[in-house]
Amino acid sequence: MLPCTLGPETYAFAMSATTRAGRGDALSAPKTPAGEVERGEAAQAVAGVTRVLVIEDEPGIADFVQRGLEAEGFAVQSAPDGIEGERLAASGDCDAVVLDLMLPGRSGMQILDTLRRERPAMPVIVLTARGEVEDRVAGLEAGAVDYIVKPFSIAELIARVRAHLRVLEQVSTSVLRAEGIELDLLTRKVRRDGDAVMLSTTEFELLAFLMRHQGRVVSREQILRGVWGYEHDPATNVVDVYVGYLRRKLGTASDPAPIFTVRSVGYRLGGAA
Ligand code: CA
Repeated sequence: MLPCTLGPETYAFAMSATTRAGRGDALSAPKTPAGEVERGEAAQAVAGVTRVLVIEDEPGIADFVQRGLEAEGFAVQSAPDGIEGERLAASGDCDAVVLDLMLPGRSGMQILDTLRRERPAMPVIVLTARGEVEDRVAGLEAGAVDYIVKPFSIAELIARVRAHLRVLEQVSTSVLRAEGIELDLLTRKVRRDGDAVMLSTTEFELLAFLMRHQGRVVSREQILRGVWGYEHDPATNVVDVYVGYLRRKLGTASDPAPIFTVRSVGYRLGGAA
């Protein structure tokens, strides 16, 4: 199983913040090779480009998702309302759909119902603010293959889109590995030297960010943009506080966590001490 780099960064996203998260320098990311997508009627990838339809009426979120997917090599089409979204999705001119539930025109549940009848093989990932258990169950019963609750990280969304497009290959591309640490973006499980480590959501996103940049120094500002996703007071010490939490959870006195402080710059995971 190959480790992968998913996305230039984690675009952590706060629902109230429509400002697009800042982006750092892109890491090289594996692109979907030609012919990789084989999903019956959904297998219409052209020249290896996987096409994702994003049906989302909030422009800030639509733009955020579109840019994140495009940075990973997906071709993205956006629909700002339920009517246009349903028309495009039902046309079959895409390989996967990212679907908001609360939309003008047609609701996400109505669109799911149409797609279940007309495009049953199309993977639909529901993206919504509604995180109640009954809503998840209803969405999955209506034919969604997955469900992501806002606020979400773009890296997780991309991992899920990839995972569902690759279902037939049974290949997991969701695991990051560095310095004996294993982080699964889909199951959100973390291990160090085989031992499970329980992290909070923010700690998990911070570790994923550091692992994507392993061996490289990242500044506090890059970390803030990449993990918290919106502008913070530059004087905030939240990064240092969370690095402290991670070190305590990942390391022991005899075997400290491989997260190094680079004086007056930031932090680095792995690389020479
Ligand atoms: Ca909406």
